[in-house]
Amino acid sequence: MKKLKVTKLHGTFLAMNLLPIILMGLVITLFSANRFAASMYHEAQAGLMDLCNTIQVTIDELYPGAYHAEETEDAIYFMKGDHALNGDYKLLDSVKKVTGVDITLFYQDIRVATTLENLKGERVVGTQVNPVVKRDVLDKADDMFYSSVMVENERYFAYYAPLFAEDGSCIGMIFVAKSSADVERLIRNSIMPMVVIAVLVMVLVALVTIHYTTGLVNTIKKIETYMANIAKGHLHDALDYEVLKREDELGEMGRNAVRMQKSLRELVEEDTLTGLNNRRCGEKKLQQTYEDYTKRGISYCVALGDIDFFKRVNDTYGHDCGDVVLTEVAKRIKYFMRGKGYAVRWGGEEFLLVFPEFYMDEVEEVMNEFIREMDTHTISYKEKTQIHVTMTFGIVQAGGQFPDIDSMVSGADRRLYIGKQNGRNRIVTDEQSEQDL
Ligand code: GH3
Ligand code: MG
Ligand code: MG
Repeated sequence: MKKLKVTKLHGTFLAMNLLPIILMGLVITLFSANRFAASMYHEAQAGLMDLCNTIQVTIDELYPGAYHAEETEDAIYFMKGDHALNGDYKLLDSVKKVTGVDITLFYQDIRVATTLENLKGERVVGTQVNPVVKRDVLDKADDMFYSSVMVENERYFAYYAPLFAEDGSCIGMIFVAKSSADVERLIRNSIMPMVVIAVLVMVLVALVTIHYTTGLVNTIKKIETYMANIAKGHLHDALDYEVLKREDELGEMGRNAVRMQKSLRELVEEDTLTGLNNRRCGEKKLQQTYEDYTKRGISYCVALGDIDFFKRVNDTYGHDCGDVVLTEVAKRIKYFMRGKGYAVRWGGEEFLLVFPEFYMDEVEEVMNEFIREMDTHTISYKEKTQIHVTMTFGIVQAGGQFPDIDSMVSGADRRLYIGKQNGRNRIVTDEQSEQDL
């Protein structure tokens, strides 16, 4: 038979079960994290816009009047009403202290008051705004939000709003911002627990899946190994009880494999008429008994028996009756051998009885009892016919002149022959004394 390539079920099962879970988990986590980050981002944005409005309202209340510029010979002052905003840090610093937000006021695109400082700790007044911001906010007179704008080598999450002069022209800007790194850290820290929980749940689900998949695959493997061994002819292997006690289809599969093994064993090892071990199986068992004897010194005896004048039964009552007698004799032998050893249908009406761990005197005693029983209890055929059956046995014990299986069986056969010669319905345990009879 062509050998099929065996793929690993474990990997297939895991891929089938784990991949969808991991993919789904990743998609849900990424989607939720994204949505969550976006909403936090909008919230931060709204916060900045609110704060910007509040600052503007506060400036209006503190310094009523319009935004305008006043030029002197050496400087331009950005005014709110009659108050110069240049260098006025009181309001800006106190807002920063409370909210942690940086604020800058621009006249046109020039910083006139700010909470921002350069590396030397100086306020960055007099510097110009980024050209992109100038174009977007100042030139278009529109407010604008930037998630990442560079000011003095630092990235800011910033909101710029235009400031209008009395005539409605855009005269300056206000900048309200947080460090981008801070905002990103805040968003990351808020998302992190959600991601960690999602990953933990995925790991947990994966572990449970792996646990069950491994259990299933191990069960399948056990059944597969068991079946492979049956295929190799191991008809006495046992299937793991863990498999047999399962209540699912795999358990049923295991139980069916055991039934199959039993049927095969019966086919291969049992004699179909009597249900005793057939000769092939008997020889195998005898080999094991012999090995126990040679390796572990466990003594054993063998009795070879034959039904007396069996031919007459066939001739008188027919072959069917002969079969009934054989079956009944086998049944009695089987019953008799319980707890003593095993019996084999050795030939037509010949039976081999093997007694592991028995010595000759014990076997002699029980065998005498057995042939007496046979002699006294007739076998009924079709209820009307009673058939008197006797048997003759030759018995040997391992050791001495019987060192191996062949010598044991031929020795028992010789003694059986002597028994037949000496009147049948007897056991022969010693060739010398019987020959002397
Ligand atoms: P002895 O006492 O010397 O053993 O005489 P016997 O008649 O029993 O011996 P013999 O060897 O002459 O006859 C054995 C008979 O057993 C011959 C054979 O037809 C019969 N026999 C063998 N196997 C079967 C079987 O499976 N069924 C039946 N009905 N008869 C069988
Ligand atoms: Mg016979
Ligand atoms: Mg015979």
